[in-house]
Amino acid sequence: MKSNQCSDGKYYIICDLCINCGLCESACPVNAIRSSDFCYKIDSSKCVCCGACADACPAAAIMISIF
Ligand code: SF4
Ligand code: SF4
Repeated sequence: MKSNQCSDGKYYIICDLCINCGLCESACPVNAIRSSDFCYKIDSSKCVCCGACADACPAAAIMISIF
């Protein structure tokens, strides 16, 4: 089980729609999002699945996945 698994068994992820604006990084209350290798990534060890990043994203690039 991944550490950021939400109560419904899903995960927040950032997909290829990301335009690297950085708004999600600012919106995350636990600093789980960082830019890395020209894209933004969610640190699964920190994410608490609040959804604030998805609400802030102008490109609808943050999705819930079931991996
Ligand atoms: S779901 Fe919440 S805790 Fe997880 S990366 Fe997004 S803003 Fe941060
Ligand atoms: S808010 Fe959306 S478009 Fe902006 S960096 Fe985050 S994932 Fe990418």
